[in-house]
Amino acid sequence: MTRADTPWRATILTLYPEMFPGPLGVSLSGDALARGDWSLETRNIRAHGLGRHRSVDDTPAGGGAGMVLRCDVLAAAIDAASPADDPRPRLLMSPRGRPLTQARVRALAEGPGALIVCGRFEGVDERVITGRGLEEVSIGDYVLSGGEVAALVVLDACVRLLPGVMGKAESGLEESFEGGLLEYPHFTRPRDWEGHTIPEVLSGGNHGAIARWRRAEAERITAERRPDLSGAVPPPRS
Ligand code: SAH
Repeated sequence: MTRADTPWRATILTLYPEMFPGPLGVSLSGDALARGDWSLETRNIRAHGLGRHRSVDDTPAGGGAGMVLRCDVLAAAIDAASPADDPRPRLLMSPRGRPLTQARVRALAEGPGALIVCGRFEGVDERVITGRGLEEVSIGDYVLSGGEVAALVVLDACVRLLPGVMGKAESGLEESFEGGLLEYPHFTRPRDWEGHTIPEVLSGGNHGAIARWRRAEAERITAERRPDLSGAVPPPRS
């Protein structure tokens, strides 16, 4: 399937454009990129840097370690990449952001695409976040050296949901986090491996029983590992 007329459109603002498409250039996302199911534009923030050295950062106001991406430089890069009427959300990868969820990923994938700003150094001048309406998004409670790997995570999660990208349309709907549950366990051949056999119910051909078993396993695993998820069933009272 080709959607060359309205591909999902990603624009990345980064100091390291050579990091893209990186891992997204192979396998499902790479094939989809080659088919035109999505497009990727990478823009170097340094093109808007100042002076002979194309400087993009400066020391933090108030002192302290590290450097901060300048708001004027970043705003110029954003304005050149995205007109004021660009309907795409503008994301800033940031450990302070709202943690990325499958629900946010699905909403992004259903939209026209995304403009993604990759931070570096200590981060970006706060004024450009409000001044250009950037939505801060975190991929987890740890600190990366830059936003590029985080942007690749966002893109990977979105692109696999685009129509025609994954082999089986339904394989998106039963996965972990859909419906607030982690996924049930998978098994395949051989039937007996190192003394461990596949659960009996999965070989019985009773589709109702299989569905009930999978649902119960998904609930058990979610309650054990992620009681914070909405689908988790509280343990029975003793
Ligand atoms: N001083 C900052 C960390 C800067 S890390 C702080 O303490 O919050 C440099 C850049 O890496 C950030 O600007 C951001 O773009 C990116 N980054 C780091 N960790 C991230 C995470 N968990 N999620 C998304 N982006 C992250």
